[in-house]
Amino acid sequence: MAGNITFTMIKPDAFRAGNSGTMIKMIQEAGFAIKAMKLTQLNAKTAGAFYAVHKERPFYQDLISYMSSGPIIAMILEKANAVEDFRKLIGATDPAKAEEGTIRKLFATSIEANAIHGSDSDENAGIEGDFFFSQFERV
Ligand code: GDP
Repeated sequence: MAGNITFTMIKPDAFRAGNSGTMIKMIQEAGFAIKAMKLTQLNAKTAGAFYAVHKERPFYQDLISYMSSGPIIAMILEKANAVEDFRKLIGATDPAKAEEGTIRKLFATSIEANAIHGSDSDENAGIEGDFFFSQFERV
């Protein structure tokens, strides 16, 4: 059975552009409850650790620079079928391929600066939520 928790980050490009409020409104209107939320900034070490799974990919260093280039908003979200439904709400990695009305279609500017992160499995949602939040930072 699919889990009811996912993890997201509003990425530096979207925060910088002032789109956080609109994106959070879309997330809540899609039925996701915010269980934890934090404005923070990654650095080369923490961004590198978060994206360690991609370290052999050619875009890894660019991804680390981009993800540590400014503030992000990290959130744990709750909804039935959270991981899959959230991936549908945000759309494809490449905004050029994202469906109309998705968050990435609306706010992403490139395959790298794609506005928002969404966990790709229940297991990773747990790992990623634990990366940012202690048990005392969740409601
Ligand atoms: P996601 O699950 O949709 O976020 O996509 P991935 O896990 O495949 O990639 C992680 C992040 O790396 C993406 O959200 C992008 O910010 C970035 N990324 C993915 N593919 C590329 C690429 O081909 N080039 C660059 N520069 N960045 C990429």
